[in-house]
Amino acid sequence: NRFDLSGKTALVTGASQGLGAGFAKTLAEAGAKVALAARQTGKLEALKGEIEAAGGTAAAIAMDVTDLDSVRAAFDATEAELGTVDILVNNAGIAVTKPFLEMSVEDWDSVLDTNLKGCFLAGQEAARRMAARHSEGGEGGSIINIASVLGQSVIGHLSGYCTSKAALIQLTKSMALELARVGVRVNALAPGYIETPINTDFFHTPAGEKLVKGIPQRQLGQSEDLDGGLLLLASEASKYMTGTVVTVDGGFLVA
Ligand code: NAD
Repeated sequence: NRFDLSGKTALVTGASQGLGAGFAKTLAEAGAKVALAARQTGKLEALKGEIEAAGGTAAAIAMDVTDLDSVRAAFDATEAELGTVDILVNNAGIAVTKPFLEMSVEDWDSVLDTNLKGCFLAGQEAARRMAARHSEGGEGGSIINIASVLGQSVIGHLSGYCTSKAALIQLTKSMALELARVGVRVNALAPGYIETPINTDFFHTPAGEKLVKGIPQRQLGQSEDLDGGLLLLASEASKYMTGTVVTVDGGFLVA
C-alpha cells in the first residue's frame, strides 16, 4: 500500500479544530505519528485522546506559526517526542472578511502573517531538518501547504485572504524548485468550499446558498473529501510530484 504512512511523523499546524483536526485524524489512520500543533495545547487533548483510543500515536505541541521562536521550539518538541518530521501540513489560516476600503493595516498583517509568513517559517524549519537528514543518507520529506481556490480566483471582501493564498501557491513552487535536490517535495492542496463547524451557518444564509449553486457539483465539500489529496501528497504515491496544486473543489474553478 503506497499510501501507508507507518513509521512516519507528521506535524499539522492549527490542528485544534476544522480541517486541521480532520487532517490529523486521517494521517493517524494511515499510520503516521501525528504532532498536533496549536497555540493552546489544552484544545488538543480531546483529539489526542481520540487518536490514541483508535490505536494511533499523537502529541500535543504548542506552536504559534507567526512566531519564529515558537515554531523552532515546536519542531524541537516534536522531534523529542515523535522523531524528525517527515510530513508537514501547513494548515493554520485565518480570514478577515471586510470591504477593501475598510481593511486596516492590522487586519492585513494578521492575515498575511498567519497564512503566508506562518507557512514560510514552518516550511523553512521543516525543510532545514528534512534536508539535513537527506544529506546524511536518510529520507527528505513532504510539505503540504493548504491553499484555497481563492488563491486562484477572487470573491469580494477577502482581499487579504485571496492575496495570501495566491502568494502561498508561489511560495510552494519556489520551495519545490529549490528543495527538490535535497529530497524535499512541496505541494499545495487547494480546497474549495468545505463545510466545517465555523462556516456551516453561513452556507445556510441566502448568500451562502447562492454560492453553493455556483459549484458544478451543487454541494459543499466535506472534510473527508480532502483525504484523497492529503494522502496522495503525504505518501510515496506522489514521489514524483512537487510544486503542484491539487485542487479539491467540486468543479468550482472550472465554472
Ligand atoms: P478554522 O478556523 O476552523 O481552523 C484554523 C485553525 O488555525 C484554528 O485551529 C486556529 O486556531 C489555527 N490558527 C490560527 N492562527 C494560528 C496561529 N498563529 N498559529 C497556530 N494556529 C493558528 O478553519 P478551517 O476552515 O479548518 O481552515 C483550515 C485551513 O484550510 C486554512 O488555511 C484555510 O484557509 C483553509 N481553507 C479552508 C476552506 C474551507 O472551506 N473551510 C477552504 C479553503 C481553504
